[in-house]
Amino acid sequence: VTSKRWTSALVVDAATSLRLSRVRQKDTSAERLVRSLLHRMGFRFRIGGKGLPGRPDVANVSRGWAVLVHGCYWHSHAGCRRATVPKRNRAFWRAKFEANQARDRRVLRDLRAIGIRPVVVWECEIEERPRVVAGRLRAALT
Ligand SMILES: [Zn+2]
Repeated sequence: VTSKRWTSALVVDAATSLRLSRVRQKDTSAERLVRSLLHRMGFRFRIGGKGLPGRPDVANVSRGWAVLVHGCYWHSHAGCRRATVPKRNRAFWRAKFEANQARDRRVLRDLRAIGIRPVVVWECEIEERPRVVAGRLRAALT
């Protein structure tokens, strides 16, 4: 099999390519999926958010953007079935989740204040609708 034939057979868009890669390898945190998608879409970035408010998972400071990947549970994704509150010690957990949300809002504000455009990607979105995320990222980051 020539590499050329393989290439033409395997030309797929970034979201499809991401889905296929998930079939092959099952070790896929939401952050990893987002990095993989951005990479396939040709974006260049640094990971870890060193020196930036909230340490965004992925950022390109010179291009002025950051992507924050939020777990639906810890960041209380509104209306999401993954954003449950434990039945025991309910008041404690509500307070904790509310504090997390307040911190998230502050981080977005602080990023904007230094000229960084923050984009939040939810765990459920990247896992269940990567194509939608790809479209949103392309629109937000280019
Ligand atoms: Zn969610």
